[in-house]
Formats: sequence, structure tokens, C-alpha cells
Amino acid sequence: MNEYAQRLQTVLREIPDGVEIVAVSKTHPAAAIQALYELGHRSFGENKVQELCAKQEELPKDIRWHMIGHLQRNKVRYIVPFVHLIHSVDSDRLLAEIDKQGGKINRVVDCLLQVRIAREETKFGLDETEVEQLLEACGQGQYPWVRVRGLMGMATLTGDFSQITQEFRGLKLLYDRLSVPNPSMDTLSMGMSGDYRIAIAEGSTMVRLGSSIFGARAYSN
Ligand SMILES: *Cc1c(COP(=O)(O)O)cnc(C)c1O
Repeated sequence: MNEYAQRLQTVLREIPDGVEIVAVSKTHPAAAIQALYELGHRSFGENKVQELCAKQEELPKDIRWHMIGHLQRNKVRYIVPFVHLIHSVDSDRLLAEIDKQGGKINRVVDCLLQVRIAREETKFGLDETEVEQLLEACGQGQYPWVRVRGLMGMATLTGDFSQITQEFRGLKLLYDRLSVPNPSMDTLSMGMSGDYRIAIAEGSTMVRLGSSIFGARAYSN
């Protein structure tokens, strides 16, 4: 069994049924994705449009590609034809562009709204009020080519477990409150290699795992 297979098996043993694993393959070669594909894994995440498109072209067409990184509006059109789920919707203007590009090709695009839960200033994301406003606009039919499937959040990069717990817990509360009036919401994307155990304990339905499956990245981004 190769190294990827071993790490995937180890992670799989820890992840309960009902929590989906997105294998974050950014910076790793197509061959590494192919190795996991041959083990039956289908969900992969990338954070750069160019890399995502290049790998999508090269690899099997039944891979479910997740866009997890900050997305610029002028690049939306490249991924809308094939992307399985966009995790990183962080503005109404981005949502409008996804809707416009989806409409052009008659494809409803599944999206998550990215919520700012970390205390760090640098992280992208919406605040609670903005999330509610966007969902209201969606409910009024303003974005017919977008289906909001849920929320995504990234906790502060810290060793302070109680802080991470609080941040994930807050996101879960928001998710629970908003998913009642928004029945298309069934996905809560939270948890990365360093904090997925906490995220799952707090109610995550989807974890985005890079280094715990692929090993350390040569450079971080
Ligand atoms: C890189 C990345 C991950 C995975 O990070 P790991 O720590 O390697 O698991 C998850 N989510 C986002 C948004 C990322 O950019």
C-alpha cells in the first residue's frame, strides 16, 4: 500500500459516517490524486483556479472538484462548467457572477457561504448579517442559478483548543438556525488537518484535509 493509501485509511478510520472528506490536493501532482482515485476516493479540493482547471482536464471526469480558496470574479467562468461545490462565496458580487455564468450554460451551481469565524483580521468571509442578507436574496429568487448548500468556516490558526471549539460552535449554531428556513442547506464545511477532530465534535458534515492525507506541502498557500 502506498503512502497516500495509508494516510487515507488512517483518516477514514477516524471520520464518522455522514462526514464527507474533501482531499485537498493543492500543490500536489495529478499522480497523487490518481492514486487516491484508484482507491475509490472522488472528492478533491483546490484553492487556485488555474491549478484546478489543469487538473480537471487531466484527470478522470467523475472526480467531484471543490473550489475551497478565495475566488476572483473574473475567474468564475472557468470553473462553473464543472465545479461540484464552491466553498468560498464571500460577497454578493461573487454570488451574482456565479449566477450569471451558471445561467449562460443552464447549470445550477452549488455553493457554500464562507463565514468569518476566526479572530484573525486577514481571513475572508461574511459576517452573520451578510449571510442572512444573501440567503434572503436567494430566497427571493435573485440568484436562480445558485443553490446555497450551506456554510464554510476556518477557525483561527492557534493551539488554543477552547478558542477553536468556540469558533466552530458558533458556526454550527448559525448553520442550525439558518438551515431551518433554507431547506437546500445540508452542508457544514469546517475542519482541516489541524482541527478536524474538534470540527467533527462540533457538528461538521464536511472536512477539508490536505496534509493529513497528502503529507506536508512543499510550500504553503
Ligand atoms: C489548504 C486548505 C485546507 C487544507 O489544509 P491542511 O491543513 O493541509 O489540511 C483546507 N481548507 C482550505 C480553505 C485550504 O486552503
